[in-house]
Amino acid sequence: MTTPTIHVGIIQQAPYIRFTLHGTFRTASGRTLSGTHRAAFAEGALTLDGETCTRLAFTPADETASFTLEQVTIGHSFHWQRQEDQTFTGSLTIIPDADGMTAINDIDVESYLTSVISSEMRATSAPEFLKAHAVISRSWLLAQIGRRRGPQTQAAHPDFRLTDDEHIRWHDREDHDLFDVCADDHCQRYQGITRAMNPAAAQAISETRGQVLADRRGHVCDARFSKCCGGASEHFAACWDDRDPDYLQPVRDCPPPALLPDLTREDEARRWMTSAPEAFCHTDDPAILSQILNDYDRETTPDFYRWTVRYTQAELSRLLRERTGTDFGAILDLTPLERGASGRIVRLRVVGERRSLTIGKELEIRRALSPTHLFSSAFVVDRGEGMPPQEFTLHGAGWGHGVGLCQIGAAVMGARGYSYRDILAHYYRNTQLLTLY
Ligand SMILES: [Zn+2]
Ligand SMILES: [Zn+2]
Repeated sequence: MTTPTIHVGIIQQAPYIRFTLHGTFRTASGRTLSGTHRAAFAEGALTLDGETCTRLAFTPADETASFTLEQVTIGHSFHWQRQEDQTFTGSLTIIPDADGMTAINDIDVESYLTSVISSEMRATSAPEFLKAHAVISRSWLLAQIGRRRGPQTQAAHPDFRLTDDEHIRWHDREDHDLFDVCADDHCQRYQGITRAMNPAAAQAISETRGQVLADRRGHVCDARFSKCCGGASEHFAACWDDRDPDYLQPVRDCPPPALLPDLTREDEARRWMTSAPEAFCHTDDPAILSQILNDYDRETTPDFYRWTVRYTQAELSRLLRERTGTDFGAILDLTPLERGASGRIVRLRVVGERRSLTIGKELEIRRALSPTHLFSSAFVVDRGEGMPPQEFTLHGAGWGHGVGLCQIGAAVMGARGYSYRDILAHYYRNTQLLTLY
């Protein structure tokens, strides 16, 4: 197998696209081209610098060529959204679509991953942690490509289960139509060669070239990960549809022989979340945390292994009304009906004076109980004085869905001298490393 090429969507819905070719590129008709140009799509006609053409595709004549796209929007709908010029290697294709134009960068998977890991990971990270991340990013990517380009065997399954009494939804990433992945956080953030390359990340990619995580049948794993498991990782079905992949089994996040208590039970979940058991991700080492969390997250969220959130009755009833669209009246109780293996709540009963409703799965619960996102759905609830109670306190564990690799735990393992093979085998049971190319 040769190195696969990936199609990355960079700009969408632009009325026109301005770009600069550095070095020599070949057009679809075989002409050579360089310099700054403008592509537009209006009244059914595709134009390059005002001249009608049939196809806009630009292939570099040699490896030193690159191109710059003007005013690329990054961080769609995040608090740091902004526009900037970005530079890429590989080919550029611009295609018209229903809303304007889409710029697509065709690039080999290894160069793409070098860029992604460079911007996601700090150069100070332990090399073995970076290698583990390189393998899971590659696995995730090749699993996506395989699914999107492969035969459409999967029947579309609904991502909700709604009755009058129960609202259960889950949110998995939707595939793109025109390309394999987008350049934003929806897939993996990709900024071409705009940022300086991180040499440690580039080395992790080249040392694991072509390596993917596969299940026992040899299928590439959809290798999920989250920031901090809270001491135990979670089943896939607690967060998404009711599948139970062999390679995403709950793991107690520390060296053997520590056992995972039965956190689906309320008494065990309470003991777990109101104490701070040993775990790889139980750390406050700033050198480790700076590898995973950006400065903004580190300042605003110092405690994520065990955390506490308090709401007054007025705050909680308003929040739940705004976030779920349901007027519960005064909130009488929040009752967990079902927990996953990590203690994450899968179905939560909101008991109100006017009405009650069961909500799930984990992301819906996190959205309902915070103006943004609660750190995780692994929490126990203490009701304050009175009826209705005057306040509610949530004692919680971890940050994110908790399925697959725990980034903070993996960074600690890397710093303690575990190899990337050990790290991957710890978080993904029943797997093997395969070298595809
Ligand atoms: Zn995407
Ligand atoms: Zn962990």
